[in-house]
Amino acid sequence: MIFDETACYICAKCTSGCPTAVYDPSFKPHVIVARSKVDREALLNDENIWYCVLCKRCERRCPQNVSPLLIVTELKNESYKCAKAHVPKGFEVLSRLLRETGLSSKEEIIITEDFDEYNREEIGLPPLPKINTKAITEALTELGFFDTGCEDQNAKAGTAED
Ligand code: SF4
Ligand code: SF4
Repeated sequence: MIFDETACYICAKCTSGCPTAVYDPSFKPHVIVARSKVDREALLNDENIWYCVLCKRCERRCPQNVSPLLIVTELKNESYKCAKAHVPKGFEVLSRLLRETGLSSKEEIIITEDFDEYNREEIGLPPLPKINTKAITEALTELGFFDTGCEDQNAKAGTAED
């Protein structure tokens, strides 16, 4: 699987197999791939890029081994780092939770059909294991999770458009 959108010949096989495109015809992976170099700044502010559900069907269908999924994901990452429009609030919440607790969601309570509430202990589950949040933060830092590469990315986009 490659990340080079220049191999795309706009056959639209990715879009014809994309489940999101079925529900929202304005979401077209082949168009996002085509626009990712020439119209990047607009794409970073486009709500559309957040509709991808990461199913990988587009990259499995692509005859050129292009991955629209990776291209959309790169756009999402760049949009998040540059605080562009339409970044879902959940990303901020996820980032904070990972840093503070090492978990991707809060510990849930169980609610029965009679609306009685139970925690883990009350239904006989062991407590969650202690999580080394420092190690998780270090790993996320190494992966670039907290990077703010906005200026570099803008420079790259500008160069591509020159
Ligand atoms: S399936 Fe591949 S080659 Fe065809 S439009 Fe999508 S990314 Fe381009
Ligand atoms: S990974 Fe995203 S773009 Fe690709 S087919 Fe699934 S929803 Fe569509």
